[in-house]
Amino acid sequence: MTEIVVVGAGLTGLTAALRLAQSGYRVRVFERYPRPGGLARVFEVGGERLEAFYHHLFTTDSAYVRLARELDLASAIEWLPSRMGIWTDHRLWDFGTPQSLLRFSPLSLVDKARFVLWTVLLQRSGRAERYADVTAKEWICAHQGRRVWDVVWGPLFHQKFSDYADQVAMVWLWRKVYLRGRSRSRSGLGERLGYMRGSFARLVETLAARITGLGGEVSLSDEVRRLEHDDAGFQVMSRQGEVHCDRVLLAIPIPEYLEVAGHLLPAADLDRLHGLKSTAAICTVLEMNRSLTPYYWLNIADPDMPFGGLIEHTNYISRERYGGRHILYISNYLLPNDPMLSLSKSEILDRYVPALQRINSSFGEDWIVASHHFKADYAQPLVTVGYRRLIPPFRTAVPGLYLGSMAQIYPEDRGQNYAVEYGEKVARCLIEDLGG
Ligand SMILES: Cc1cc2nc3c(=O)[nH]c(=O)nc-3n(C[C@H](O)[C@H](O)[C@H](O)COP(=O)(O)OP(=O)(O)OC[C@H]3O[C@@H](n4cnc5c(N)ncnc54)[C@H](O)[C@@H]3O)c2cc1C
Repeated sequence: MTEIVVVGAGLTGLTAALRLAQSGYRVRVFERYPRPGGLARVFEVGGERLEAFYHHLFTTDSAYVRLARELDLASAIEWLPSRMGIWTDHRLWDFGTPQSLLRFSPLSLVDKARFVLWTVLLQRSGRAERYADVTAKEWICAHQGRRVWDVVWGPLFHQKFSDYADQVAMVWLWRKVYLRGRSRSRSGLGERLGYMRGSFARLVETLAARITGLGGEVSLSDEVRRLEHDDAGFQVMSRQGEVHCDRVLLAIPIPEYLEVAGHLLPAADLDRLHGLKSTAAICTVLEMNRSLTPYYWLNIADPDMPFGGLIEHTNYISRERYGGRHILYISNYLLPNDPMLSLSKSEILDRYVPALQRINSSFGEDWIVASHHFKADYAQPLVTVGYRRLIPPFRTAVPGLYLGSMAQIYPEDRGQNYAVEYGEKVARCLIEDLGG
């Protein structure tokens, strides 16, 4: 029987492994961490599981919902309203609804009219090519105006892409606006976001259980360090030993791909792969005895603040589930070499607490019941102008070696839905090549 090794038990690797196991191949998944889930991994708060990095679904996330249905989990997804705000000009503003825009005085009436007009046009325009070769900054400044970039988009891009903000291609923003437009209109009730009762770990665990149920194996705390390749197949060297297999799928970030298999790739591929940039992320989670703001999602459009977003999970999901605690994610995307990545949790909190006090003057450290700190070195690929020409293919230059990575998702923004969709796509390539 053909043996396939999948490296990485994030959603991409697990979805691909399920499809391969269902097609009759013998699959073994290697994961470096003790738990599967990758960026969607969880920890516990008040007896309930919670994602280390905030997670929700959009109503357009159809691949994820389809998989949840197959795994009998669709009814666990709750579609709930959420409230969005923005911190700018030293105060909080409602944001994201027509009424809130009318009251948003940092933009003039003319700016608002251009903002709305072009946002509506973007939601209706279905052609990616039009936006692929221009940066979002250039496009926004030309169409919505410099002030709209400076007040709204620029700070948001900076939040997600740090100093790479000016390099992001317009196609990335267009696709987000286009899909969000559909997400809002589908519910007919303003935007509703999806969350899985009991956390998204339920789907991850069900995937792993189905894979083992089909005779596959999920090997945890077992980092793959190197691959070797010869006519007989692949030798996979991992923390726990060595195995031989016929095919390998690397469902891991690009830097790890280069580490594990870079020595097998041609120089031209290496050059292209080294050209792909990404941001890292740190996420501090506070369990609090009070609520900081009325918003689920608060964009911080203020360069003097030490973080880019505040996501108050319990303004979206009932805090009763978490032993009554209010849960606040403090989000911060950083360049991979930012010194903040190596600060300890308490050093980070020392920087964050005064900024939280600016947002709500009654906030004090005595509100914090517990805190947690998580880091992702590879959190967000940077989609630059001409990105589609850089995207690495599912079939690598090494026969029998496949890649399924966030960097391939285009033009959509990465997310659980696309991990599922692309996991299925790369599995299909393998199955086709094996004549299945
Ligand atoms: C801050 C933040 C917020 C997010 N919010 C949302 C959201 O609201 N909604 C949403 O849908 N998505 C969200 N996402 C994105 C979502 O989590 C990812 O798109 C998705 O989980 C990616 O899955 P993946 O399998 O492609 O990659 P990963 O989750 O990165 O999985 C890769 C796996 O490979 C393992 N690995 C790497 N190298 C090795 C090795 N050498 N050997 C063995 N194992 C290895 C890693 O440990 C990891 O488990 C968010 C991400 C971040 C960072």
